[in-house]
Amino acid sequence: MPGRHPVVELSDCILCGICEEVCPSVFYLSDLGYVQVAELAEYPEEEVDAAVRNCPKDCILWK
Ligand code: SF4
Repeated sequence: MPGRHPVVELSDCILCGICEEVCPSVFYLSDLGYVQVAELAEYPEEEVDAAVRNCPKDCILWK
């Protein structure tokens, strides 16, 4: 599906770092202390889905 991208609901994020561990090409902890989503033309579906599944707060979604 074109244009689909992952979003992190920052208000629920506890900065556990699991998304970055599972899918470092997309998720990273910024210097400002929150999770950022890399700007990519296309996102690796399986890795992002793994991050979605493993996020303990269920705060990663596809939009
Ligand atoms: S896995 Fe979820 S709770 Fe943990 S840092 Fe990533 S978005 Fe935040």
